[in-house]
Amino acid sequence: MSDTAEASTAQDDVVDELRSWLSEHWDPELTVGEWWQLLGLAGWAAPGLPTNAYGRGLSRNDAVRVQTEIAEFGALSAPGGLGLLLAAPTIATHGTQEQIDLYVRDIVTGAKGWCQLFSEPGAGSDLAGLTCKAELDGDEWTINGQKVWTSFGHMADLGMLIARTDPELPKHQGITWFAFDMHQDGVEVRPLVEMTGHALFNEVFISDGKVADDAIIGGRGNGWAVANTTLMHERSGLGSGGGSAAAGAATPGTIADQLGRRAGDFVSGPKKKRSGGGAGAGLGGGGAKLLIDLAKGNGSIQDPSIRQDLMKLHTLGEIGRFNNLRLKAAKKAGQDIPDIGNISKLAMSDIMRSTRDVGLRIIGAAGMLHAYSDDQRGAIEDATGNPFGQMVTSIALWAQGPPIYGGTDQIQRNIIGERVLGLPKEPGDTKGVPFSELPKNA
Ligand SMILES: Cc1cc2nc3c(=O)[nH]c(=O)nc-3n(C[C@H](O)[C@H](O)[C@H](O)COP(=O)(O)OP(=O)(O)OC[C@H]3O[C@@H](n4cnc5c(N)ncnc54)[C@H](O)[C@@H]3O)c2cc1C
Repeated sequence: MSDTAEASTAQDDVVDELRSWLSEHWDPELTVGEWWQLLGLAGWAAPGLPTNAYGRGLSRNDAVRVQTEIAEFGALSAPGGLGLLLAAPTIATHGTQEQIDLYVRDIVTGAKGWCQLFSEPGAGSDLAGLTCKAELDGDEWTINGQKVWTSFGHMADLGMLIARTDPELPKHQGITWFAFDMHQDGVEVRPLVEMTGHALFNEVFISDGKVADDAIIGGRGNGWAVANTTLMHERSGLGSGGGSAAAGAATPGTIADQLGRRAGDFVSGPKKKRSGGGAGAGLGGGGAKLLIDLAKGNGSIQDPSIRQDLMKLHTLGEIGRFNNLRLKAAKKAGQDIPDIGNISKLAMSDIMRSTRDVGLRIIGAAGMLHAYSDDQRGAIEDATGNPFGQMVTSIALWAQGPPIYGGTDQIQRNIIGERVLGLPKEPGDTKGVPFSELPKNA
Protein backbone atom coordinates (compact mmCIF):
# COMPACT_ATOMS: atom_id res chain seq x y z
CA MET A 1 0.00 0.00 0.00
CA SER A 2 1.35 3.50 -0.83
CA ASP A 3 2.05 6.07 1.91
CA THR A 4 -0.88 8.19 0.77
CA ALA A 5 -3.23 5.22 0.77
CA GLU A 6 -2.09 4.26 4.28
CA ALA A 7 -2.58 7.83 5.50
CA SER A 8 -6.09 8.08 4.11
CA THR A 9 -7.01 4.68 5.57
CA ALA A 10 -5.85 5.92 8.98
CA GLN A 11 -7.88 9.10 8.48
CA ASP A 12 -10.94 7.14 7.40
CA ASP A 13 -10.70 5.03 10.58
CA VAL A 14 -10.67 8.18 12.68
CA VAL A 15 -13.62 9.62 10.78
CA ASP A 16 -15.62 6.37 11.10
CA GLU A 17 -14.99 6.28 14.84
CA LEU A 18 -15.94 9.95 15.19
CA ARG A 19 -19.13 9.60 13.17
CA SER A 20 -20.36 6.66 15.18
CA TRP A 21 -19.47 8.51 18.40
CA LEU A 22 -21.38 11.59 17.20
CA SER A 23 -24.41 9.49 16.22
CA GLU A 24 -24.47 8.04 19.69
CA HIS A 25 -23.82 11.22 21.69
CA TRP A 26 -24.89 14.39 19.83
CA ASP A 27 -28.19 15.70 21.14
CA PRO A 28 -29.20 19.30 20.41
CA GLU A 29 -31.21 19.33 23.64
CA LEU A 30 -28.05 19.07 25.76
CA THR A 31 -26.72 22.30 27.21
CA VAL A 32 -23.54 23.69 25.66
CA GLY A 33 -21.69 22.79 28.87
CA GLU A 34 -23.00 19.18 28.87
CA TRP A 35 -22.11 18.68 25.20
CA TRP A 36 -18.62 20.14 25.53
CA GLN A 37 -18.03 17.95 28.59
CA LEU A 38 -18.83 14.83 26.51
CA LEU A 39 -16.85 16.02 23.48
CA GLY A 40 -13.82 17.16 25.51
CA LEU A 41 -13.54 14.13 27.77
CA ALA A 42 -13.85 11.77 24.77
CA GLY A 43 -10.78 13.46 23.26
CA TRP A 44 -12.61 14.98 20.28
CA ALA A 45 -12.37 18.66 21.29
CA ALA A 46 -8.59 18.76 21.00
CA PRO A 47 -7.70 15.48 19.27
CA GLY A 48 -4.19 16.76 18.43
CA LEU A 49 -3.25 16.79 22.13
CA PRO A 50 -1.65 13.68 23.64
CA THR A 51 -3.89 11.15 25.35
CA ASN A 52 -2.74 12.19 28.84
CA ALA A 53 -3.95 15.73 28.03
CA TYR A 54 -7.52 14.95 26.95
CA GLY A 55 -6.55 14.43 23.31
CA ARG A 56 -6.04 11.51 20.97
CA GLY A 57 -2.52 12.17 19.74
CA LEU A 58 -3.73 12.74 16.16
CA SER A 59 -1.66 14.54 13.51
CA ARG A 60 -2.54 18.16 12.74
CA ASN A 61 -4.26 17.25 9.50
CA ASP A 62 -6.34 14.57 11.17
CA ALA A 63 -7.23 16.97 13.98
CA VAL A 64 -8.40 19.56 11.43
CA ARG A 65 -10.39 16.84 9.68
CA VAL A 66 -12.11 16.03 12.99
CA GLN A 67 -13.25 19.66 13.36
CA THR A 68 -14.60 19.65 9.81
CA GLU A 69 -16.45 16.38 10.37
CA ILE A 70 -18.10 17.66 13.56
CA ALA A 71 -19.37 20.71 11.65
CA GLU A 72 -20.51 18.61 8.69
CA PHE A 73 -22.34 16.26 11.02
CA GLY A 74 -24.28 19.25 12.32
CA ALA A 75 -23.08 19.04 15.93
CA LEU A 76 -21.80 21.99 17.95
CA SER A 77 -18.07 22.44 17.35
CA ALA A 78 -15.37 22.31 20.03
CA PRO A 79 -15.03 25.24 22.47
CA GLY A 80 -12.33 27.08 20.48
CA GLY A 81 -10.72 30.29 21.64
CA LEU A 82 -7.17 30.88 22.80
CA GLY A 83 -7.46 28.25 25.51
CA LEU A 84 -7.77 25.42 23.03
CA LEU A 85 -5.48 26.99 20.44
CA LEU A 86 -2.62 28.09 22.72
CA ALA A 87 -2.91 27.38 26.45
CA ALA A 88 -3.84 23.69 26.20
CA PRO A 89 -0.95 22.60 23.94
CA THR A 90 1.49 24.73 25.97
CA ILE A 91 0.39 23.20 29.28
CA ALA A 92 0.29 19.72 27.71
CA THR A 93 3.93 20.20 26.68
CA HIS A 94 5.38 21.88 29.78
CA GLY A 95 2.91 21.28 32.62
CA THR A 96 2.83 18.51 35.22
CA GLN A 97 0.04 15.93 35.03
CA GLU A 98 -1.61 17.71 37.97
CA GLN A 99 -1.56 21.00 36.02
CA ILE A 100 -2.89 19.28 32.90
CA ASP A 101 -5.80 17.92 34.93
CA LEU A 102 -6.40 21.28 36.55
CA TYR A 103 -6.23 23.53 33.47
CA VAL A 104 -6.51 21.51 30.23
CA ARG A 105 -9.62 19.64 31.38
CA ASP A 106 -11.46 22.97 31.82
CA ILE A 107 -10.27 24.12 28.39
CA VAL A 108 -11.38 21.09 26.38
CA THR A 109 -14.76 21.11 28.14
CA GLY A 110 -15.17 24.86 27.54
CA ALA A 111 -15.59 25.53 31.27
CA LYS A 112 -12.93 28.26 31.29
CA GLY A 113 -11.94 30.87 28.72
CA TRP A 114 -8.35 32.07 28.33
CA CYS A 115 -6.46 35.10 27.02
CA GLN A 116 -2.80 35.65 26.18
CA LEU A 117 -1.05 38.22 28.39
CA PHE A 118 2.19 38.54 26.41
CA SER A 119 2.48 41.93 24.60
CA GLU A 120 3.18 45.13 26.49
CA PRO A 121 3.30 48.76 25.34
CA GLY A 122 7.12 48.48 25.11
CA ALA A 123 7.41 44.78 24.27
CA GLY A 124 5.76 43.34 21.16
CA SER A 125 8.25 42.19 18.53
CA ASP A 126 10.88 42.39 21.23
CA LEU A 127 8.76 40.29 23.57
CA ALA A 128 11.72 39.30 25.75
CA GLY A 129 12.04 42.99 26.69
CA LEU A 130 8.88 42.72 28.82
CA THR A 131 8.81 44.60 32.13
CA CYS A 132 5.70 43.20 33.84
CA LYS A 133 7.12 42.28 37.25
CA ALA A 134 6.50 39.19 39.41
CA GLU A 135 7.82 39.20 43.00
CA LEU A 136 7.72 36.18 45.28
CA ASP A 137 6.27 36.51 48.75
CA GLY A 138 6.06 33.12 50.48
CA ASP A 139 4.39 30.73 48.06
CA GLU A 140 2.60 33.49 46.17
CA TRP A 141 3.74 35.94 43.49
CA THR A 142 2.66 39.58 43.27
CA ILE A 143 2.28 40.87 39.72
CA ASN A 144 2.52 44.50 38.58
CA GLY A 145 2.53 45.72 34.99
CA GLN A 146 0.53 46.44 31.87
CA LYS A 147 -0.36 44.18 28.96
CA VAL A 148 -1.90 45.30 25.68
CA TRP A 149 -3.66 43.89 22.58
CA THR A 150 -5.11 41.17 24.82
CA SER A 151 -7.59 39.41 22.55
CA PHE A 152 -10.69 38.17 24.42
CA GLY A 153 -9.27 39.56 27.70
CA HIS A 154 -12.82 40.68 28.54
CA MET A 155 -14.07 37.07 28.19
CA ALA A 156 -11.21 35.32 29.96
CA ASP A 157 -11.25 33.41 33.23
CA LEU A 158 -7.51 32.81 33.04
CA GLY A 159 -4.55 34.39 31.29
CA MET A 160 -1.28 33.01 29.90
CA LEU A 161 0.88 35.52 31.71
CA ILE A 162 4.57 35.98 31.10
CA ALA A 163 6.31 38.17 33.65
CA ARG A 164 9.84 38.99 34.73
CA THR A 165 10.75 37.05 37.85
CA ASP A 166 14.47 37.93 37.91
CA PRO A 167 15.69 41.22 36.37
CA GLU A 168 19.30 40.38 37.28
CA LEU A 169 19.40 37.62 34.66
CA PRO A 170 19.83 38.27 30.90
CA LYS A 171 16.56 39.25 29.25
CA HIS A 172 15.58 35.87 27.78
CA GLN A 173 16.16 34.26 31.16
CA GLY A 174 14.34 35.34 34.31
CA ILE A 175 10.96 35.24 32.54
CA THR A 176 8.25 32.92 33.89
CA TRP A 177 4.94 31.65 32.36
CA PHE A 178 1.99 31.68 34.81
CA ALA A 179 -1.61 30.48 34.62
CA PHE A 180 -3.09 33.71 35.94
CA ASP A 181 -6.58 34.13 37.44
CA MET A 182 -8.32 37.06 35.74
CA HIS A 183 -11.09 37.22 38.37
CA GLN A 184 -9.35 39.19 41.07
CA ASP A 185 -8.97 42.70 42.43
CA GLY A 186 -6.07 44.41 40.77
CA VAL A 187 -6.96 43.22 37.25
CA GLU A 188 -8.51 45.92 35.12
CA VAL A 189 -9.51 45.09 31.54
CA ARG A 190 -10.16 48.06 29.23
CA PRO A 191 -11.48 47.45 25.69
CA LEU A 192 -9.71 48.84 22.59
CA VAL A 193 -12.04 49.49 19.65
CA GLU A 194 -10.64 48.58 16.23
CA MET A 195 -11.46 50.15 12.89
CA THR A 196 -13.77 47.19 12.20
CA GLY A 197 -16.00 48.60 14.96
CA HIS A 198 -15.42 45.56 17.17
CA ALA A 199 -13.47 45.52 20.42
CA LEU A 200 -11.69 42.19 20.14
CA PHE A 201 -8.74 43.19 22.21
CA ASN A 202 -8.02 45.07 25.39
CA GLU A 203 -5.50 46.73 27.63
CA VAL A 204 -4.98 44.84 30.88
CA PHE A 205 -3.63 46.65 33.93
CA ILE A 206 -2.38 44.44 36.75
CA SER A 207 -1.81 46.10 40.14
CA ASP A 208 -0.70 43.77 42.93
CA GLY A 209 -2.31 40.79 41.17
CA LYS A 210 -1.70 37.45 42.90
CA VAL A 211 -0.72 34.08 41.50
CA ALA A 212 0.35 30.95 43.37
CA ASP A 213 3.82 29.47 42.87
CA ASP A 214 2.26 26.19 41.72
CA ALA A 215 0.58 28.04 38.81
CA ILE A 216 3.98 28.34 37.12
CA ILE A 217 4.06 26.26 33.94
CA GLY A 218 7.40 24.80 32.88
CA GLY A 219 9.47 26.00 35.81
CA ARG A 220 10.59 29.34 37.22
CA GLY A 221 12.81 31.30 34.81
CA ASN A 222 11.95 28.98 31.92
CA GLY A 223 9.16 31.21 30.56
CA TRP A 224 10.91 32.11 27.32
CA ALA A 225 10.99 28.48 26.20
CA VAL A 226 7.39 27.97 27.32
CA ALA A 227 6.25 31.19 25.58
CA ASN A 228 7.93 29.99 22.39
CA THR A 229 5.81 26.85 22.51
CA THR A 230 2.73 29.08 22.79
CA LEU A 231 3.91 31.22 19.85
CA MET A 232 4.73 28.17 17.75
CA HIS A 233 1.14 26.98 18.15
CA GLU A 234 -0.14 30.49 17.40
CA ARG A 235 1.82 30.68 14.15
CA SER A 236 1.06 27.22 12.90
CA GLY A 237 -2.58 27.36 14.06
CA LEU A 238 -3.25 30.61 12.26
CA GLY A 239 -1.02 30.09 9.25
CA SER A 240 -2.12 29.30 5.74
CA GLY A 241 -3.31 25.76 5.23
CA GLY A 242 -4.04 25.41 8.93
CA GLY A 243 -7.41 24.95 10.56
CA SER A 244 -7.96 27.36 13.40
CA ALA A 245 -9.10 26.06 16.74
CA ALA A 246 -10.13 29.62 17.43
CA ALA A 247 -13.33 29.10 15.47
CA GLY A 248 -16.43 28.09 17.38
CA ALA A 249 -20.13 28.92 17.38
CA ALA A 250 -20.46 29.21 21.16
CA THR A 251 -18.03 30.98 23.46
CA PRO A 252 -16.24 29.07 26.22
CA GLY A 253 -15.83 30.25 29.80
CA THR A 254 -17.94 31.64 32.60
CA ILE A 255 -18.12 35.24 31.39
CA ALA A 256 -19.82 34.54 28.04
CA ASP A 257 -22.49 32.72 30.08
CA GLN A 258 -23.43 30.30 27.27
CA LEU A 259 -22.68 27.00 29.02
CA GLY A 260 -26.26 26.62 30.27
CA ARG A 261 -27.85 27.33 26.90
CA ARG A 262 -29.25 24.72 24.49
CA ALA A 263 -26.43 23.36 22.29
CA GLY A 264 -28.74 22.98 19.29
CA ASP A 265 -29.33 26.76 19.24
CA PHE A 266 -25.73 27.29 18.14
CA VAL A 267 -25.85 25.11 15.02
CA SER A 268 -27.88 25.34 11.87
CA GLY A 269 -27.93 21.67 10.85
CA PRO A 270 -25.41 19.62 8.88
CA LYS A 271 -22.99 21.64 6.77
CA LYS A 272 -22.43 20.82 3.12
CA LYS A 273 -19.22 18.90 2.43
CA ARG A 274 -16.48 20.95 0.82
CA SER A 275 -15.93 19.96 -2.78
CA GLY A 276 -12.56 18.39 -3.55
CA GLY A 277 -9.69 20.28 -5.13
CA GLY A 278 -10.31 23.41 -3.07
CA ALA A 279 -7.56 25.84 -2.41
CA GLY A 280 -6.75 24.88 1.16
CA ALA A 281 -8.21 26.13 4.39
CA GLY A 282 -9.12 29.70 5.20
CA LEU A 283 -9.53 32.56 2.82
CA GLY A 284 -7.23 31.10 0.21
CA GLY A 285 -9.87 28.42 -0.38
CA GLY A 286 -13.36 29.58 0.57
CA GLY A 287 -12.37 33.23 0.06
CA ALA A 288 -11.19 32.72 -3.52
CA LYS A 289 -14.39 30.83 -4.32
CA LEU A 290 -16.56 33.55 -2.76
CA LEU A 291 -14.72 36.28 -4.65
CA ILE A 292 -14.90 34.38 -7.94
CA ASP A 293 -18.67 34.10 -7.48
CA LEU A 294 -18.91 37.81 -6.66
CA ALA A 295 -16.85 38.73 -9.73
CA LYS A 296 -19.00 36.51 -11.93
CA GLY A 297 -22.12 38.07 -10.43
CA ASN A 298 -21.22 41.68 -11.16
CA GLY A 299 -19.34 41.07 -14.40
CA SER A 300 -15.92 42.17 -13.13
CA ILE A 301 -14.67 38.67 -13.99
CA GLN A 302 -14.34 40.06 -17.53
CA ASP A 303 -11.46 42.24 -16.33
CA PRO A 304 -8.27 40.26 -17.09
CA SER A 305 -6.36 41.87 -14.22
CA ILE A 306 -9.06 40.78 -11.74
CA ARG A 307 -8.94 37.27 -13.18
CA GLN A 308 -5.18 37.30 -12.72
CA ASP A 309 -5.47 38.44 -9.08
CA LEU A 310 -8.07 35.75 -8.38
CA MET A 311 -5.73 33.19 -9.89
CA LYS A 312 -2.93 34.46 -7.64
CA LEU A 313 -5.18 34.13 -4.60
CA HIS A 314 -6.19 30.62 -5.58
CA THR A 315 -2.51 29.73 -6.12
CA LEU A 316 -1.51 31.05 -2.69
CA GLY A 317 -4.21 28.87 -1.14
CA GLU A 318 -2.96 25.86 -3.06
CA ILE A 319 0.62 26.48 -1.92
CA GLY A 320 -0.66 26.49 1.67
CA ARG A 321 -2.42 23.22 1.07
CA PHE A 322 0.64 21.63 -0.53
CA ASN A 323 2.85 22.81 2.34
CA ASN A 324 0.46 21.10 4.68
CA LEU A 325 0.70 17.88 2.70
CA ARG A 326 4.50 18.20 2.62
CA LEU A 327 4.57 18.58 6.38
CA LYS A 328 2.33 15.59 6.82
CA ALA A 329 4.60 13.45 4.65
CA ALA A 330 7.71 14.69 6.47
CA LYS A 331 6.17 13.93 9.88
CA LYS A 332 5.21 10.49 8.73
CA ALA A 333 8.83 9.86 7.76
CA GLY A 334 9.94 11.06 11.22
CA GLN A 335 11.20 14.37 9.84
CA ASP A 336 10.12 17.99 10.01
CA ILE A 337 10.13 21.11 7.86
CA PRO A 338 12.11 23.67 9.88
CA ASP A 339 10.03 26.68 10.95
CA ILE A 340 7.07 25.74 8.76
CA GLY A 341 4.85 27.61 11.24
CA ASN A 342 6.64 30.87 10.44
CA ILE A 343 6.44 30.20 6.72
CA SER A 344 2.71 29.42 6.91
CA LYS A 345 2.00 32.51 8.98
CA LEU A 346 3.83 34.71 6.48
CA ALA A 347 1.88 33.07 3.65
CA MET A 348 -1.40 33.75 5.47
CA SER A 349 -0.52 37.47 5.60
CA ASP A 350 -0.11 37.43 1.82
CA ILE A 351 -3.44 35.67 1.39
CA MET A 352 -5.16 38.26 3.60
CA ARG A 353 -3.66 41.19 1.69
CA SER A 354 -4.49 39.64 -1.70
CA THR A 355 -8.05 38.92 -0.55
CA ARG A 356 -8.43 42.51 0.64
CA ASP A 357 -7.08 44.03 -2.57
CA VAL A 358 -8.91 41.94 -5.13
CA GLY A 359 -12.11 41.91 -3.04
CA LEU A 360 -12.23 45.70 -2.91
CA ARG A 361 -11.53 45.93 -6.64
CA ILE A 362 -14.41 43.55 -7.36
CA ILE A 363 -17.01 45.39 -5.29
CA GLY A 364 -15.71 48.83 -6.34
CA ALA A 365 -16.97 52.00 -4.64
CA ALA A 366 -19.32 50.01 -2.35
CA GLY A 367 -16.18 48.84 -0.55
CA MET A 368 -15.95 52.29 1.04
CA LEU A 369 -19.13 51.58 3.04
CA HIS A 370 -18.77 49.69 6.31
CA ALA A 371 -21.55 48.91 8.78
CA TYR A 372 -20.96 49.47 12.48
CA SER A 373 -24.44 48.24 13.47
CA ASP A 374 -27.17 45.90 12.19
CA ASP A 375 -29.25 48.91 11.05
CA GLN A 376 -26.37 50.20 8.98
CA ARG A 377 -25.76 46.72 7.57
CA GLY A 378 -29.36 46.55 6.33
CA ALA A 379 -29.21 50.05 4.86
CA ILE A 380 -25.98 49.29 2.97
CA GLU A 381 -27.35 45.99 1.64
CA ASP A 382 -30.50 47.77 0.43
CA ALA A 383 -28.47 50.52 -1.23
CA THR A 384 -25.95 48.25 -2.96
CA GLY A 385 -28.20 45.22 -3.54
CA ASN A 386 -25.23 43.04 -2.58
CA PRO A 387 -25.46 40.99 0.63
CA PHE A 388 -21.78 39.91 0.38
CA GLY A 389 -20.22 43.35 -0.01
CA GLN A 390 -20.09 43.78 3.77
CA MET A 391 -18.15 40.57 4.11
CA VAL A 392 -15.52 41.87 1.70
CA THR A 393 -15.27 45.18 3.54
CA SER A 394 -14.99 43.48 6.93
CA ILE A 395 -12.24 41.19 5.64
CA ALA A 396 -10.45 44.20 4.13
CA LEU A 397 -10.50 46.08 7.44
CA TRP A 398 -9.41 42.98 9.38
CA ALA A 399 -6.61 42.18 6.90
CA GLN A 400 -4.20 44.43 8.80
CA GLY A 401 -4.37 42.12 11.87
CA PRO A 402 -2.83 38.80 10.75
CA PRO A 403 0.42 40.35 9.46
CA ILE A 404 0.92 41.71 13.01
CA TYR A 405 -0.34 39.26 15.63
CA GLY A 406 1.69 36.22 16.62
CA GLY A 407 4.82 38.09 15.39
CA THR A 408 4.84 40.56 12.50
CA ASP A 409 5.80 39.69 8.92
CA GLN A 410 9.19 41.34 9.44
CA ILE A 411 9.83 39.19 12.51
CA GLN A 412 8.78 36.03 10.62
CA ARG A 413 11.26 36.98 7.88
CA ASN A 414 14.00 37.54 10.47
CA ILE A 415 13.34 34.10 11.98
CA ILE A 416 13.23 32.35 8.60
CA GLY A 417 16.39 34.23 7.53
CA GLU A 418 18.33 33.28 10.61
CA ARG A 419 17.01 29.81 11.44
CA VAL A 420 16.15 28.37 8.03
CA LEU A 421 18.47 30.18 5.62
CA GLY A 422 21.36 30.50 8.11
CA LEU A 423 21.81 34.25 7.59
CA PRO A 424 23.79 36.16 10.26
CA LYS A 425 21.94 37.36 13.35
CA GLU A 426 21.13 41.02 13.92
CA PRO A 427 24.11 42.93 15.38
CA GLY A 428 24.25 43.94 19.05
CA ASP A 429 24.25 40.66 20.96
CA THR A 430 23.09 41.36 24.53
CA LYS A 431 22.65 37.72 25.54
CA GLY A 432 24.91 37.80 28.59
CA VAL A 433 23.85 41.21 29.98
CA PRO A 434 21.50 41.31 32.99
CA PHE A 435 18.09 42.74 32.02
CA SER A 436 18.41 45.45 34.71
CA GLU A 437 21.56 46.79 32.99
CA LEU A 438 20.13 46.94 29.47
CA PRO A 439 19.17 50.28 27.97
CA LYS A 440 15.38 50.41 27.41
CA ASN A 441 14.26 48.42 24.31
CA ALA A 442 17.74 46.93 23.80
C1 LIG B 1 -5.49 41.51 15.99
C2 LIG B 1 -4.38 41.39 16.99
C3 LIG B 1 -4.55 40.57 18.10
C4 LIG B 1 -3.54 40.46 19.05
N1 LIG B 1 -3.75 39.67 20.15
C5 LIG B 1 -2.80 39.59 21.10
C6 LIG B 1 -3.03 38.83 22.30
O1 LIG B 1 -4.10 38.23 22.49
N2 LIG B 1 -2.07 38.80 23.23
C7 LIG B 1 -0.88 39.44 23.09
O2 LIG B 1 -0.05 39.33 23.97
N3 LIG B 1 -0.62 40.18 21.98
C8 LIG B 1 -1.56 40.27 20.99
N4 LIG B 1 -1.33 41.04 19.86
C9 LIG B 1 -0.10 41.84 19.81
C10 LIG B 1 0.90 41.38 18.78
O3 LIG B 1 1.53 40.19 19.16
C11 LIG B 1 1.92 42.54 18.62
O4 LIG B 1 1.22 43.63 18.09
C12 LIG B 1 3.07 42.17 17.73
O5 LIG B 1 3.91 41.25 18.35
C13 LIG B 1 3.88 43.42 17.32
O6 LIG B 1 4.27 44.14 18.42
P1 LIG B 1 4.02 45.72 18.50
O7 LIG B 1 2.60 46.00 18.18
O8 LIG B 1 4.56 46.19 19.82
O9 LIG B 1 4.90 46.34 17.32
P2 LIG B 1 6.45 46.68 17.37
O10 LIG B 1 7.20 45.53 17.94
O11 LIG B 1 6.64 48.01 18.02
O12 LIG B 1 6.81 46.77 15.82
C14 LIG B 1 6.54 47.96 15.04
C15 LIG B 1 7.08 47.72 13.63
O13 LIG B 1 8.51 47.51 13.66
C16 LIG B 1 8.86 46.26 13.03
N5 LIG B 1 9.97 45.65 13.74
C17 LIG B 1 10.13 45.55 15.10
N6 LIG B 1 11.26 44.89 15.38
C18 LIG B 1 11.84 44.56 14.21
C19 LIG B 1 13.04 43.87 13.84
N7 LIG B 1 13.87 43.37 14.77
N8 LIG B 1 13.31 43.70 12.52
C20 LIG B 1 12.46 44.19 11.56
N9 LIG B 1 11.32 44.87 11.85
C21 LIG B 1 11.01 45.04 13.14
C22 LIG B 1 7.60 45.41 13.16
O14 LIG B 1 7.57 44.42 12.17
C23 LIG B 1 6.49 46.44 12.99
O15 LIG B 1 6.27 46.69 11.61
C24 LIG B 1 -2.32 41.18 18.89
C25 LIG B 1 -2.15 42.01 17.78
C26 LIG B 1 -3.16 42.12 16.84
C27 LIG B 1 -2.96 43.01 15.65
